Amino acid sequence: MIELDGTLSELARFQSGSEPIVSLYLDIRWKDEQQRERVRLFVQERIRHTLAHYLPESPGRAGLEKTLKRIQDQVTGLLGQEYEADKNGLALFACDTLGLWRPHFFRRSFENALTTDAIPHLTQLARLQDDFAPAIVVAPSQEGADIYHVSLGDLAVEANLRGFVPRRERDNFNAGASGRPRVQYERETKEVRHHQNFVQKNRRAAAAEVTAFYDQNRHCYVVLVGTAETVAAFERELPERLKERVIARLPRPRDWESGDGMRRDGIVKGAAKALADREKVDEHDAIEQVVAQSLRGALGVLGPSDVVEALNQGRVHRLVIEECFDGTGWRCDNCLAIGANAESAESCPYCGGELHAVRDLGEAIVARALLDGADVEVVAHANKLHSYRGVGAFLRQTAQTGLRGASPPYPSAPGANQ
Ligand SMILES: [Zn+2]
Repeated sequence: MIELDGTLSELARFQSGSEPIVSLYLDIRWKDEQQRERVRLFVQERIRHTLAHYLPESPGRAGLEKTLKRIQDQVTGLLGQEYEADKNGLALFACDTLGLWRPHFFRRSFENALTTDAIPHLTQLARLQDDFAPAIVVAPSQEGADIYHVSLGDLAVEANLRGFVPRRERDNFNAGASGRPRVQYERETKEVRHHQNFVQKNRRAAAAEVTAFYDQNRHCYVVLVGTAETVAAFERELPERLKERVIARLPRPRDWESGDGMRRDGIVKGAAKALADREKVDEHDAIEQVVAQSLRGALGVLGPSDVVEALNQGRVHRLVIEECFDGTGWRCDNCLAIGANAESAESCPYCGGELHAVRDLGEAIVARALLDGADVEVVAHANKLHSYRGVGAFLRQTAQTGLRGASPPYPSAPGANQ
């Protein structure tokens, strides 16, 4: 999901002054009038609640009021519209002072939330990104392959399906005419061989297409569709890095031949199921591995204090955080450092700057990881990670000094590596 990749790291760069950034997530599937009313009341109540926390004369209040008014108008406009099947979720980030106004619509819905903070709250978006990794669906055939690109949670308004058959080798194995039986026999074996070459060549061409696409879209998984035999033959042509991305081998759905719409639904359904299964496995593996790495004292850390320290040093390669992560901390506006223990710090231990309390440390951790280009894996509640307070991180492989304890005695300014 390349588009969302860029969006996340770009949004993570925003940091507000006195007017906070508003993050709004909405489930905009209007099943009925009641659902509409629920969303309307939710937004109205959250806006009222938010403004109640800012004294009328406090700095940033005027800007915030303007931002919230605009949000209210946007939501009122949405509520007045008929439900559109392609729009199930809205994620909106806004701050009048910063000139920030980013409404994004998705096929997937969100849990309703309206929050204000110095940073955009990106956890729900990051979760959408890893839950809905794009897939290449390949149905190999003798003539090549039908290749589809399915991205369910993408910024694209609808599931993006692309089907094409790669260069078809025009068969030129014409038999010619000959009456002599012996020659006839020879020609047939030659034809069989020729035909095999033809199939093989197409298979290779299709595998090359898929590989080229994957190399541009490294988050993609691969789903193969067809008989066991055809799929296995195709898979043999794939390079190792692609074989590792194959998450499902499915028989051709029965409705495959019944026109484009049905085929398309079948493909999306098949891919969605395969991706959901894979995501569960990935989450489980991420937790197992980050705990194992950390206990080995190698390239992993666990718990808010160590994760935050690694983030401040720009060493996090992949963050693993529970969706229910709960914690508070601090942020230094001067050098962007964050901390897990609000009580223990009076000034920034990195630069001596002034600290601000952070109510939602999870969002601060996610934003900081995205800012540094780390992958973010948001996982469902799991006891193993929860016993480490719901967060862990894989560290970047650095030279020999990369291990914990070998870091310099005076940490460098955390913002310095950007
Ligand atoms: Zn600082």
